[in-house]
Amino acid sequence: MSKKMNLTTKIFIALILGIITGLVLHPLKDNVIVNNYIVNFVFNLLGNGFIRAIRMVVVPLVLCSLVIGAAGIEDVTKLGRIGIKTLAFYLSTTAVAVILALIGGNIINPGKGVNIGEIATSEVTIAKTKPFVDILLDMIPINPAQAMANGNMLQIIVFAILVGIAISLLGSKADNIKKIFEEGNALSLKLVEMIMIFAPLGVYGLISKTFTTLGYVALLPLFKYFIGVVIILALHCLITYQGILILFGKYNPMKFLKNFAPTMMVGFSTASSSACLPSSLKSMQENFGVSKAISSFTIPLGNTINMDGTAVMQGVATIFIAQIYGIDLTMGNYVTIILTATLASIGTAGVPGVGVIMLGMVLVQVGLPLEGIGLVMGIDRFVDMFRTMVNVTGDAVCTIVIAKTEGEELK
Ligand code: ASP
Repeated sequence: MSKKMNLTTKIFIALILGIITGLVLHPLKDNVIVNNYIVNFVFNLLGNGFIRAIRMVVVPLVLCSLVIGAAGIEDVTKLGRIGIKTLAFYLSTTAVAVILALIGGNIINPGKGVNIGEIATSEVTIAKTKPFVDILLDMIPINPAQAMANGNMLQIIVFAILVGIAISLLGSKADNIKKIFEEGNALSLKLVEMIMIFAPLGVYGLISKTFTTLGYVALLPLFKYFIGVVIILALHCLITYQGILILFGKYNPMKFLKNFAPTMMVGFSTASSSACLPSSLKSMQENFGVSKAISSFTIPLGNTINMDGTAVMQGVATIFIAQIYGIDLTMGNYVTIILTATLASIGTAGVPGVGVIMLGMVLVQVGLPLEGIGLVMGIDRFVDMFRTMVNVTGDAVCTIVIAKTEGEELK
């Protein structure tokens, strides 16, 4: 824990140093030495080296985490109605979260007015508009190996979920392969941890490069991005969730917030859904009086797959990055973002900082430059605290609605 805090502090210091370096170098940006050696060599090497390392781990991480996620929902068949209701709730609220994020992002326009496109080194190949039926057909891989080699995330996700379901249907016959994916997931997370040691250097390189090119005008978009995410998270929490509580759960939202606040605070301070699991379960059972049968299914499942806050961040971040690189998103792109961000948040582990790595998946799918991750990473820990709070709140709201619709009497 203290190690993680240290890394966070280091990343934040790197962000500040990057801003300072960039602002100092900005007046000299056309100087040959600054341009060729400092910006395009040192900053580029640090920043893009880090981004490349992150990209390396995205495909194995998504594959393994979704396979074991899907393999773990064997209870769905056991629990039948409750399982399906819970899954439908989790998926639909996450999709609503992304849609809110996309609408909000287009109103707030966090990245408008600045154009970093000129310093993008990875070629920007925005996906062309496609008929909707093709977007759907394209999700089915005809060759999973090729999907992985090309980093086609939607295809990888579809493949991973099917493999997971098949593993769960095979039961004990697939124990070994299930274990391989579990270990693959642990391995991928370890790789992320190792790569993140270099995050301060990467963030320093990317932020210095941005600020050298743009000067102080780059500060405003970053601030707008942060505020934008927090506002949309608050809206999702206060309007979507409370609306659902009133309409479907017939539960007083104020009472809910009061009783669930301690767990929300755990989420805020740890930035980890997994760390909230004990507190969430206890609160559901003791403060709200939800039965063990329901809460011990909905809470652990929600903890792993239901990440509305993460989806909000990914939606706003995608718009921010598209705008800052001067790329117009098409309707087809928006559909892709809704699908990918919903699935990316499902594949996000409930530990600090994974959501921003999974953002890479959304960016790849839409064809946006991955370098954009470096821009948001510097302040990601702060964003993470807010979004984790929403992640765990969503699980609790779902639990109450399921309990109520199953006829339980709540406190
Ligand atoms: N920290 C988040 C959670 O645990 C995941 C993320 O978005 O990074 O819920």
